[in-house]
Amino acid sequence: MSVELIEQMLTRLKLTAIRDQLDNLLDEAGRKELNLREALAFLCEAEIARKDQRRITMGLSIAKFPFVRTFDGFDFAAQPSLDPKQIRELATCRWVANGDSLLLLGPPGVGKTHLAVALGREAIQLGYSVLFTPATVLVAALAQAHVEGRLDERLLYYSKPKLLVIDELGYLPFEANAAHLFFQLISRRYERGSVLVTSNRSVSEWGAVFGDAVAATAILDRLLHHSHILTIRGDSYRLREKKRSGLLRPSAIEGTT
Ligand code: ADP
Ligand code: MG
Repeated sequence: MSVELIEQMLTRLKLTAIRDQLDNLLDEAGRKELNLREALAFLCEAEIARKDQRRITMGLSIAKFPFVRTFDGFDFAAQPSLDPKQIRELATCRWVANGDSLLLLGPPGVGKTHLAVALGREAIQLGYSVLFTPATVLVAALAQAHVEGRLDERLLYYSKPKLLVIDELGYLPFEANAAHLFFQLISRRYERGSVLVTSNRSVSEWGAVFGDAVAATAILDRLLHHSHILTIRGDSYRLREKKRSGLLRPSAIEGTT
């Protein structure tokens, strides 16, 4: 049978990794003296590896992370208020499988967004769809869609991913309608998909963040039902690095966080 014919069949079966590397793969299978069963498994592995890689690349681009951050790049020694064991458990994404919420709370610069991105990347590796959005962008998009009569469509966009990461809730106060729109989103996602929220404000301050204590209570009621809360303490990692490199005198740091 000609190579062309095999390649045509592989194309039709969408086994493009096997097709593109056919000679190399067959040579290697021969070198390793694989029997037929082993050779078939070897070819399947090559195809799956490429399909996984594609899926992950695609998932990462859809997720719109603001930067690349991983657990490997996280310095746990610099952050004693976090239990590495608890982070490892969260990195298994069991909470995403269960549709639980996760709140990462703490002052600016302690690594909330870093961890949110690392967890989001992990979820994508494990096959979950993820979308990252700054809280202000989310609320502005919902408010605009509301005005344009397309709120349902927008809510659907933010409801679809298995994990929605809402970053930096509370850095800026929300506009009047925000609590109501946010509540609709959280209700839609409730017990369907996971929400990860990072915030510099404790949950007791969310009434002030939303400018509406009743709506904030209703939002929290759903978010906290099946939830994990990590409160990070300590100094800003950014300032700490600057301090170390001598860019800031220790006295200049007082009162900045
Ligand atoms: P937050 O979201 O809590 O304000 P970030 O996650 O944006 O803080 O962290 C600020 C910067 O410091 C980022 O570049 C982040 O990667 C880095 N950073 C923070 N904490 C750590 C840490 N423990 N180890 C390594 N880098 C860190
Ligand atoms: Mg942040």
